[in-house]
Amino acid sequence: MSPRERRDPAASREESLRREMVARFVAPRGVDDPRVLAAMSEVPRHAFVPEPLRARAYGDHSLPIGHGQTISQPYVVGLMTQRLGVTAEHKVLEIGSGSGYQTAVLGKLARSVYSLERIDELARSAAALLAGLGFHNVSVKCFDGTYGYPAAAPYDRILVTAGTETVPEPLLAQLAVGGRLVVPVGPRDRQRLRVIRKRKNDYAQEEAEDVTFVPLLGRFAGSPA
Ligand code: SAH
Repeated sequence: MSPRERRDPAASREESLRREMVARFVAPRGVDDPRVLAAMSEVPRHAFVPEPLRARAYGDHSLPIGHGQTISQPYVVGLMTQRLGVTAEHKVLEIGSGSGYQTAVLGKLARSVYSLERIDELARSAAALLAGLGFHNVSVKCFDGTYGYPAAAPYDRILVTAGTETVPEPLLAQLAVGGRLVVPVGPRDRQRLRVIRKRKNDYAQEEAEDVTFVPLLGRFAGSPA
């Protein structure tokens, strides 16, 4: 037992719930990257879930976080993170901070993370939570992420955590050569993960798992904000 566990039984209980979440709902479904599993075993998911729903934070489901948005199912976070292939050298852009949970998982793995959220209250709450948990390599900004964030471009990795029928052009433009973009593409409630690799002169695209995300809204998403 670590010294921290001896001091705080609640933290120890949450730690074992987290390990159980990863072992039961994430690892058996093909997420086998040890760095991803370790990051998910460390980030306190309950902190990103609204107080009344905290008892369900480590279950096999997405949960509402207000404003009609959701924190993704743990398996989906693991899957997207694994498909993104993040290393400790990478600068990552995330569109759709939501609760900030996925941002935290990326923050554990990457050199730096810029995350954009269009709903002010969610952006503020995610930023405060991440700062409180000591994530100094992540920053959350409030605006339409379909524009990307040109100030810190290019990015080694870009993750979109909302569904879109059109991959926003600025995100492709802000991807580094050799970089990778993961985005759920398709109509509402019927999307498929698309993994896009930027090469010197073109893009390689691969379709992966079916997923369900709330819609990406904005100037370059094909749906008005
Ligand atoms: N990754 C989040 C879940 C995201 S839900 C988590 O772990 O909690 C999708 C989020 O994308 C929502 O919060 C929604 O407001 C946001 N979103 C939708 N369109 C956006 C846009 N154009 N720019 C930034 N955020 C957007």
